[in-house]
Amino acid sequence: MDLVIKNGTLITPDGPFKADVGIEGERIAAIGEGLTAPNVLDAAGKYVLPGAIDVHVHMQMPVGDVVSSDDFYTGTVAAACGGTTTIVDFVEPKGLQSLMDALHQRRAEADGRVAVDYGLHMTLNSDDPLRLAEIPAVMEAGCTTFKLYMAYEGLRLSDGAMLRALAALQKHRGLPIVHAENHDAIQYLTEKFLREGKTAPRYHPLTRPDFMEGEATARALALARVVGLPMYIVHVSCAEALGAVRTARAKGQPAYGETCPQYLLLTRKEYERPGFEGAKFVMSPPLREEADAARLWDALASGDLQVVATDHCPFFYEGQKDKGRAAFNKIPGGAPGVETRLPLLYTFGVRAERLSLGQWVRVCCEEPARLFGLAPRKGRIAEGADADLVIFNPKRHVVLHSQILHQNVDYTPYEGLELVGYPETTLLRGQVIVRDGEFVGHAGQGRFIRRHVSGAWG
Ligand SMILES: [Zn+2]
Repeated sequence: MDLVIKNGTLITPDGPFKADVGIEGERIAAIGEGLTAPNVLDAAGKYVLPGAIDVHVHMQMPVGDVVSSDDFYTGTVAAACGGTTTIVDFVEPKGLQSLMDALHQRRAEADGRVAVDYGLHMTLNSDDPLRLAEIPAVMEAGCTTFKLYMAYEGLRLSDGAMLRALAALQKHRGLPIVHAENHDAIQYLTEKFLREGKTAPRYHPLTRPDFMEGEATARALALARVVGLPMYIVHVSCAEALGAVRTARAKGQPAYGETCPQYLLLTRKEYERPGFEGAKFVMSPPLREEADAARLWDALASGDLQVVATDHCPFFYEGQKDKGRAAFNKIPGGAPGVETRLPLLYTFGVRAERLSLGQWVRVCCEEPARLFGLAPRKGRIAEGADADLVIFNPKRHVVLHSQILHQNVDYTPYEGLELVGYPETTLLRGQVIVRDGEFVGHAGQGRFIRRHVSGAWG
């Protein structure tokens, strides 16, 4: 063995236990007591976790005439510093561009730049038969999950187009991951508010009511039921949408859902900040009520929601979010979060006794790996798995400020929050890439991971 992590407490979905972890090359070679190797990392008093997996990020993503401010390098350095060793980003074909061409282009942007391992979801922005015919090739190339939007002009699919796309995915065992909102209701309400001169950020959430997210979620899952395939709902933000996922699951449908730290920790109050400050929280779906957050926490603990991802999509407050000073619908939607997920969920989940240690690792590591075709190599501490590991200090105090984070953006939605517990050391396939909070890896160290068929297919 090359390296041993000694004296740590390993966190697994079944609970914590004390053991050393031995690493040979890129893989975990042994788990046990008294292991020895030339290189030793002492983890006494600390937790050892599988490298976390963030299945929902948007690095250097064009939105209108701006691009999200983290590129594949800065965004993955931030991920690594926050204990995340695999991200899954998106391919977004333009118009009727070939899916495979778009995939090659996106890989060219990421390869050589990424500091952690990565995968890509394929966005299906049309039901054009030539595009759907590319699905087997896209699956073969390692993109086994497909994003379908019910909102956003140029991206959204009608119910008919969605059914045809789902049927094509069903045939090849692709997993649809769905942005569930009601496009027409959003359009109607946006036009109404703007006509009435209601242009401030605080009107953004009012264009996207929780019951319409619930409607769209129920409709998406009903369409999946018509075709007969599993479906994963991204960024479930409220009790109404959660209810739709629960109802489908209660009927035995293979329905899965994700939420994000912002929906667990922040509420609609943020939009009432003075001046234009509310723009920092303009994202879709919007932030909801405290009661919604409480229900989302319960659903993570009960397993009705399986994953916490971030929807990391940062834009500078000065220079990018500004574009919407005259009208809230011109504010680039999205917020940073790739770096802060694991510690936020520790302080406000584990320490607040909303999640056990095992549940924390399940929603951040194991379930994302299983549902996104990264298991058995990622998401768990086991012999033969990739040595993607995090040494987490449960006693370390950190006050969040954008200046201490590595995300390329001028704010964090969690400014001033006090955390107890923070990742200190991150290993990617056996290499230390973060040491005592400092990034010591290099661009291009991450690899594209060809993912398997989703575990949602059973
Ligand atoms: Zn997203």
